[in-house]
Amino acid sequence: MSEQSGQALYMSEYKYVLHGSVVFSLRTGLMIRSGKPGKLTDSSIERSFDGKLHINGYVWSSLLRRALARLKGTEELVKAIGKDTTQTNQGVSPLWCEATSSELYGPDVRPGNKVSRVWGAVCIGAVFSDEIVPPGIPLACNFNYFARSEEEIKNFADQLCQALDVIRSGIENIGSGWSYGHGRLDFFNAISEILDLKKSSDRSKLWEFPKVATPEKPYRLACKKPEMAKPCTRYTVKARIADGQLLAVHTDMPMLDSLSQYGDKLPASFVYRRYKFNGQKLAPEIVIPGRTIRQALLSAPLERKLRSQGQKICEDTKPEECQCSRCQWFGNTDSGGMIAVLDAPVTNAAPQIVNRVQLCEHSLQNMNLFSGEYLKGGEFTIEILLDEARNPTQAAALKGALEALLNELKPSANTPPGWYRLGATATCTGQVEVTDWK
Ligand SMILES: [Zn+2]
Repeated sequence: MSEQSGQALYMSEYKYVLHGSVVFSLRTGLMIRSGKPGKLTDSSIERSFDGKLHINGYVWSSLLRRALARLKGTEELVKAIGKDTTQTNQGVSPLWCEATSSELYGPDVRPGNKVSRVWGAVCIGAVFSDEIVPPGIPLACNFNYFARSEEEIKNFADQLCQALDVIRSGIENIGSGWSYGHGRLDFFNAISEILDLKKSSDRSKLWEFPKVATPEKPYRLACKKPEMAKPCTRYTVKARIADGQLLAVHTDMPMLDSLSQYGDKLPASFVYRRYKFNGQKLAPEIVIPGRTIRQALLSAPLERKLRSQGQKICEDTKPEECQCSRCQWFGNTDSGGMIAVLDAPVTNAAPQIVNRVQLCEHSLQNMNLFSGEYLKGGEFTIEILLDEARNPTQAAALKGALEALLNELKPSANTPPGWYRLGATATCTGQVEVTDWK
């Protein structure tokens, strides 16, 4: 058996344990499906018998393994933690993570649809809804890391600290919906102690974990900046609704606890809001879903550009292992692609109810009356993550195309005004502009 740190061993060789607890907070909604349909939704979140949110220990060890795998010098450790099929004599993983059970405070519903890539319209019969865990909820990850020496423990603690920095960057998530920005975590607090397995007093602590307080603000990590073996690029894009424009990502389902704000006249459609846990309860917040931004501002325009350059792009009919740039960049039904976009909360949101009349184009008679809630102003910060490690050969091309697009979204660019639009009724509303990006 090799003497390298992190090598998987038989239990009898472990002498010390790093025994600890890390408190994360959900930065974005968590989609952790139970595989069963919900009462009102097409999917439901994983719950324990008492109705609390249940996160399997495997979810945590997989997250830590993926975050550690992004660092330099962690190959042996990552192999030992799992998913290495090249070694036959692996022994037991040195990292053990406990399942988490957490108060839910109430779930949220995330509507979705499939947009036809040929027509840009919603596919008929392809509307669905997922139950998700709202952001803001604290989640504790309790773990034991078994080692032969205190030096191995020190090495692991240092690598773990850097892995937490990677997790905080948002490049690795828990649950599904990586591309749509789900399951991102903020690191808040951690405690740990070294247990000596030769002492019975230490052994008795092994499966008991203290409750760690969640501070108001995330703690600063004390470790050195991570050296990345698998790089990723994070874009922070400041955007706003163009002057004099209306914008809305619409939903038919209002927040039932805030209906009173509309008085006695309810519109037919509402600005999309998500719930966020504020420490006491769930409160509504206006956001532009990452999924919508990814589709309307990034994937559709870049696909159009690729097609007009004469590149062969598939029409999503047989997506299996498609090699076209569009599928490599944005994924398809079978794979996630290289780009993730997080939900963008809207600040200075100015909702307004707009009444519209649809006239018959022949007789000019009234055909329909609409009343919808729109935003007449607002700013938002879009977080885009580009994971070069998922497809290194495509990374440079995608980066170039994305950055050119972000520049085109600036009002100073040479693009026709209103070229890039977002949300409902985008033939006449939804102009957005990028004020700055880095
Ligand atoms: Zn394709």
